[in-house]
Amino acid sequence: LQRQYAQELSLPAATLDGERIRLYLNAGLLSGLATEIAEGADGIGLYRTEIPFMLQQRFPSESEQIKVYRQVLAAASGRPVVMRTLDVGGDKPLPYFPINEDNPFLGWRGIRLSLDHPELFLVQLRAMLQAGGCGEQLRILLPMVSSLDEIDQALGYLDQAYMELKVDVNQDITRPKIGIMLEVPALLYQLNEVAQRVDFVSVGSNDLTQYLLAVDRNNPRVSSLFDSYHPGILRALKRAWFDCEKFKLDVSVCGELAGEPMGALLLVAMGYEQLSMNQGSLARINYLLRRVSKSELKCLLEQALKLANGGQVRQLVTEYLNARN
Ligand code: PEP
Ligand code: MG
Repeated sequence: LQRQYAQELSLPAATLDGERIRLYLNAGLLSGLATEIAEGADGIGLYRTEIPFMLQQRFPSESEQIKVYRQVLAAASGRPVVMRTLDVGGDKPLPYFPINEDNPFLGWRGIRLSLDHPELFLVQLRAMLQAGGCGEQLRILLPMVSSLDEIDQALGYLDQAYMELKVDVNQDITRPKIGIMLEVPALLYQLNEVAQRVDFVSVGSNDLTQYLLAVDRNNPRVSSLFDSYHPGILRALKRAWFDCEKFKLDVSVCGELAGEPMGALLLVAMGYEQLSMNQGSLARINYLLRRVSKSELKCLLEQALKLANGGQVRQLVTEYLNARN
């Protein structure tokens, strides 16, 4: 079956009723990246820059970062690349930058750390801008945003990095599209204001689930409670799509849910047309989407949203899938 999936990978993902779904890759390592892209991704939907940072013994310099980011862009050979600024803290420690907190997932994570250390943030932004050069390929994504003020501050630093480069470097630089991760629940209710500030949103269903359900995503004791199929989570995801559409925000999903067969079906039913996932999921999701119709999926979603819990949702979608085999 794996071979059968793989054969279809070169075909664009689309449902039987002609809804084109773009499938992107979640990445963090350089090795094998070019092959992974060539095997059928529409681009990189999430490049986690904390991964190269975690592999070092110290913060990588501007020129070291430029080199890595250029390689990532080159691997994507012209296809779009969403590069996320440093998302350390929480479950992702840097060996050379210890953070000790009682509640790391509610603490100093992602954009919070970058805004408190502009000297690090500016180096990263300058490196990204230089790697992107005058192309249209690069998009910059801000993680763990919980307020509009954080967006405004981050955009201020981006302007500063851009202006500094205009003076320092004799290179044409395009201002890249900017987006935020939608993973802190409060921002679900501010998408109108978000749309006035940025170009796109990437839904981080892993953290969004964790924060909506108040369940630590890595604590095995409560892992059965971490459930992105919880009808409350599905409703939140549906609302996020609806508001992004309403306020003309380009939107994709890059959490694990997008790479799960049942999750991908439900997300497509909600209206999402861009899913970003680990390499191992691409072929399977492509294969699956080519065998379902969006109109049918919408009925399935309507039923799912009325169910009492995630177990029932999974059962419903499993029965739907089994009936099609
Ligand atoms: C997410 O939270 O869904 C996400 C994609 O980000 P990360 O898993 O890197 O926190
Ligand atoms: Mg996250």
